[in-house]
Amino acid sequence: MATTSLDLAKVRNIGIMAHIDAGKTTTTERILYYTGMSYKIGEVHDGAATTDWMAQEQERGITITSAAVTCHWTVDEVDNTINIIDTPGHVDFTVEVERSLRVLDGAVTVFDGVAGVEPQSETVWRQADRYGVPRICFVNKLDRTGADFFRCVDMIVDRLNAVPLVMQLPIGAEAGFKGVVDLVRMKALVWSEETKLGEMYDVVDIPEDLRAQAEEWHGKLVEAVAENDEEMMELYLEGEEPTQEQLYTAIRRVTLASTGTGDTTITPVFCGTAFKNKGVQPLLDAVVRYLPSPLDVEAIEGHSPRNPEEVVARKPSEEEPLAALAFKIASDPHLGKLTFIRVYSGVLHAGAQVQNSVKDKKERIGKIYRMHANKREEIDRVGAGDIVAVMGLKQTTTGETLSDPANQVILESMDFPAPVIEVA
Ligand code: GDP
Repeated sequence: MATTSLDLAKVRNIGIMAHIDAGKTTTTERILYYTGMSYKIGEVHDGAATTDWMAQEQERGITITSAAVTCHWTVDEVDNTINIIDTPGHVDFTVEVERSLRVLDGAVTVFDGVAGVEPQSETVWRQADRYGVPRICFVNKLDRTGADFFRCVDMIVDRLNAVPLVMQLPIGAEAGFKGVVDLVRMKALVWSEETKLGEMYDVVDIPEDLRAQAEEWHGKLVEAVAENDEEMMELYLEGEEPTQEQLYTAIRRVTLASTGTGDTTITPVFCGTAFKNKGVQPLLDAVVRYLPSPLDVEAIEGHSPRNPEEVVARKPSEEEPLAALAFKIASDPHLGKLTFIRVYSGVLHAGAQVQNSVKDKKERIGKIYRMHANKREEIDRVGAGDIVAVMGLKQTTTGETLSDPANQVILESMDFPAPVIEVA
């Protein structure tokens, strides 16, 4: 059973947000497929290798049933843990949406390449702004007739009042969509015509006819980053071309600093077609490169159960007292009641007694599970920054805090920001 703590710098807790039908489910399924393919879960309850179930799941189609699912993705030879938190798509369940926004650190917004920015995209965007969630965009469905990447980019400016960082250029259009120009690496990433599920792209030189456009957009990217980042501005003013590494780091800084709580959100924009299996692997790289780890997020604040006026802040560290938020109760066909929690600080051990600080009741933690796309993995401890499902909680409902009995905190107060009102 896994007993080690996670390196928080290599953890991403993300949500995927979209207007209905933009391709959130398809994108998530592809993410789970690619990440499952490249990673063999160390210990799983029946010991089957990931690739075995992938073959089976491919026949049946992967189903995403979990409120939070954990996967792994390697970038620059470093393995990262990505927890994908289900973000309800229906805007009428505002409290549910806001609660899921609270437990995630970053988000991917998926747009339909034909429809562009739709009403629900605007709503979820404003909700993410409210919670200061840094995000990247994926313009999906570029294989469809009428899809237009740049129209969608313009709509991100006009409708969302955001500053898009164009990270890729599409190669080919509609049925002829082949791949993308990566404007940081200045290489073309191309897939075969009938890309099979899981197929990797080839990295080739930028096609001759796109060379000038790619140079132009690379320049615009560097300029936009420089306008928002001092280090990049210094290089820019000295007329120096940033290295790939400098550009990655500066884009990360700009994305993380831009949480929408000030004025405009700066957001890197990627493209592809999840359904036709093109574009999802670079999107996963971007999740790791540009979205925050739990360490990048400010200490969470709650209040003392004794005194609602007394602010208690908890850092994302295992050295701090335990504070965890229950954000979803689910019923598992095999396990029964599961409570999904995000641990903000401290460590939670299977079998431990903790305090539900909202109800002022003791709770005994049963087994702890990490939910993968296909299986659950039993672990005996979970530390700050991580998201898991636990068994055994009898009284705890969503929105309630589990604390160290000797050091209590209530994380979520009931005074949510006012619901986002739809403007007709
Ligand atoms: P969700 O409502 O946002 O979860 O959207 P889905 O992932 O369920 O996708 C809605 C519909 O669009 C489904 O019929 C998908 O097969 C289709 N779809 C998703 N991604 C693409 C894509 O990249 N290209 C095309 N042509 N269709 C897509």
